[in-house]
Amino acid sequence: MEAELKEKVEQCLNCKVKPCTKGCPLENNIPAFIEKVKQDKLEEAYEILSETTVLPAICGRICPHYKQCMGKCVRGIKGQPVNIGDIEKYIGDMSIKNNYKLPNCEQERNEKIAIIGSGPAGLTCAAFLRRNGFKVTIYEKYSQLGGILRNGIPNFRLDKSILDNTIQKILDLGIETKCEMELGKNLDLNELQKEYNAIFLAIGANITKNMEIKGEELTGVYGGNELLELNNHPTYVGKKIAVVGGGNVAIDCARTINKLGAKSVTIIYRREEEQMPAEKKEIEDAKKEGVSFLFKHNITQIIGNEKVEKIECIKTELVQKEGETRKSPVEIEGSNYTIDMDYVVMALGSKTEINVVKNLGLELTQEKYVKINDKKQTSNEKVFAGGDLVGEKSTVAWAARSGREAAESIGKFLCKQLVTKIPKRPKRPKRP
Ligand code: SF4
Repeated sequence: MEAELKEKVEQCLNCKVKPCTKGCPLENNIPAFIEKVKQDKLEEAYEILSETTVLPAICGRICPHYKQCMGKCVRGIKGQPVNIGDIEKYIGDMSIKNNYKLPNCEQERNEKIAIIGSGPAGLTCAAFLRRNGFKVTIYEKYSQLGGILRNGIPNFRLDKSILDNTIQKILDLGIETKCEMELGKNLDLNELQKEYNAIFLAIGANITKNMEIKGEELTGVYGGNELLELNNHPTYVGKKIAVVGGGNVAIDCARTINKLGAKSVTIIYRREEEQMPAEKKEIEDAKKEGVSFLFKHNITQIIGNEKVEKIECIKTELVQKEGETRKSPVEIEGSNYTIDMDYVVMALGSKTEINVVKNLGLELTQEKYVKINDKKQTSNEKVFAGGDLVGEKSTVAWAARSGREAAESIGKFLCKQLVTKIPKRPKRPKRP
């Protein structure tokens, strides 16, 4: 083990109450796997992680650790928290290098389950169902598995060889895959129900929300999610680009565009830096690379004759309103001004692909997410759903947990006596 990593694991106090575990959406047994790394028992560390996750090399790289496990680490109260992300990444990478196996089923079952979508929720659900002996087939609309992990996270944040290796470990459990199969095109939910005992829908929600401002229809306005997913960019060289939003999609878009040679990239965010949902490290990296930020600003209109020429911005202040837990941004009257701009990228959150979702024949929520009960079951008892499609908190780890919970519910639905060994979980925070 490298000296630097040794130093990181030695920081861990092996706290009995495991605050870090409580901060982890997957409830990974953090002190236990760190103890195994201290003893240089890496395969055992991987086994501990595998009880709750199948994505350690990915989550170790891209999770917002400071907002999750590391944000709860007692070492962080008076100094720096234990670098849990780096330790998890190391174990994940070693599992790839040394070909450690995920735990597999001890008993084969006859029930067949179709998983639609191969992002973090779909992959995790598939692995945990297979672990319990079910026959699992993953359907994916693109030619390669990975969903948002492949088509929504740029290479500089997640090297796709890591993703490929992680997926291979999951498929090695004995999972079938059918690519280039898309709901609403060449895949039909009713037909699937005849063939499978249960279905898990995890097709995500990767359509950028509109801002509903003047000029949004102009040429040169892009949705951040679509830009990352299709990786189909205009020429940015010599151009000025505004990215509106404060989450990881905004940062990923800004950094990608900056690397593609833009003259300037400016992120516009309504609140202060500390309130940005994006990971602290990603914000710092974006700054180092030359991305600019306009905090406490909003965009009120996009101006141009057919194509983007300018944007109008307005300054905001944060005001504590009655009944609200955090301050809300309020526009400061008369503070509007315009800036020359060539392209605008909207990165304001995601919504479902309504044409696909409304044709599923399932009950939807008011916000047009698929409605589920506490067992992740939709209005059709054979169909379960999770991840972004049901409007749950949108990070990779939360999506993975959603897949794991769905696997547990599907297992119990198909096989009443099934007992799973996953620990009790903390309450999921409300969507901001
Ligand atoms: Fe180790 Fe920090 Fe977790 Fe305590 S809270 S067990 S120090 S990682």
